[in-house]
Amino acid sequence: MQITQVLFSDINQVKTETVDQAWRALDPTEVRIAPAFFGICGSDLHVLHGHHPFARPPLVPGHEIAARVLEVGSAVTGIRAGDHVVVDPIMACMACRACKAGQFNHCEPPQVAGFRAPGFARSQHIVPARNCHVAPASIPLKVLAFAEPAACARHCVSRMPARSLEDVLVIGAGTIGLSIVQALRIMGAGDVTVVEPDAAKRALAVRLGAARAFAPGELPESLRFSGVIDVVAAQPTLNEAFQRVYAGGTVMCMGVPGGAREIPLPMMQRFERDLLSSGMYIPEDFDEVIAWLADGRFDTRELISDLFTVSEADKAFVRAQQNDSIKVLLQFADA
Ligand SMILES: [Zn+2]
Ligand SMILES: [Zn+2]
Repeated sequence: MQITQVLFSDINQVKTETVDQAWRALDPTEVRIAPAFFGICGSDLHVLHGHHPFARPPLVPGHEIAARVLEVGSAVTGIRAGDHVVVDPIMACMACRACKAGQFNHCEPPQVAGFRAPGFARSQHIVPARNCHVAPASIPLKVLAFAEPAACARHCVSRMPARSLEDVLVIGAGTIGLSIVQALRIMGAGDVTVVEPDAAKRALAVRLGAARAFAPGELPESLRFSGVIDVVAAQPTLNEAFQRVYAGGTVMCMGVPGGAREIPLPMMQRFERDLLSSGMYIPEDFDEVIAWLADGRFDTRELISDLFTVSEADKAFVRAQQNDSIKVLLQFADA
C-alpha cells in the first residue's frame, strides 16, 4: 500500500514523499484513520531546527489533525467508519500511576505523535481508539484541525484558580495566546489584557475578546493583574509576569521555556504569589473544545492564516516561520 507523508529528513529539511507501507489488520482497540488537515505548531519548528528536547530529525511530524475514520477494530464502540475525529497525540503507556488516574499528559517519558511517537502527517495511520474524539460532521475538517491548540488553551485556563481570573494578562498572542484569549472569554474570566509585539495580532486579540492590547514595554506602569499567563516563557516575559501579578495571584507558565529560568522566590513566597504550569491537555479538554467549535464560541476564521496542500509541505514550513502567519494548515489530497 502506498501512503503520502511529510518527512523531516534532516535538520531544516522538509519533504513530501510517497512510501510503501505494509497493510496490517487492526487490533481490536485500534482505529484506521485518513488525516484530512494538520496544523503546523511552534514545537514542530523546534524539532525541525534541531532544538527540541525530546525529538530530532529524521522523523514524520504532525500532532494537530482532523481525520476521517476508515475502519475500527472489533472491540471499538462509539466510533464508526466515516466519522470525523480529532486524535489526541499523547500515546500514553496506560500502565503508570499517571495513566491509571487519567492524567495522560503526566505519563513519563512522554510518547507524543510527531516527537517520540510516529507523527500524524501521513495519508493513513493506525491509532488507539482511546485517542480519538468524534466530532459532529457540521464542523468543517479544516476548523476541527484547530481542536488541539484550543485544547491546550482550555487546559491552561482550567488550571487557573478562580480568583486569578478576575483580571488576566496574557503575554504573547500567537496561536496559543489568541486561543487563550478566547478560552478566557468562553470560561467567564473578567478583564483580559494582552502584550504582543505584532500590531495585527494585537488587533486580533481585541476582536477575539481582550479588552486592550499593548506592545512590549508599553504596558502602563500602574497596571497589575490577579493572573498572568506567560505564553513565551523567556526570562524577560517571566520577569514581567512576576512584576505584574498582585499579591495572592497566579503566574501561569504556558510557553515552552528553552532552558532554566530565574524565579524571584522571596516576593513570591512572602506574598503567596503562585507559579503554576500547563502542559498539553487531558481528554475532557478535547470534548469541551469540540463543543466550542461546533457552536462557534471559539472562532478560528482569523486564526487559520494559510492553507497548503501536503505536496507543498516545504513551503508551508517556511511560511510557518514567518511572524505574520498564525496557524498554517496542510491539506491531504482528498480532504
Ligand atoms: Zn502543537
Ligand atoms: Zn503512563
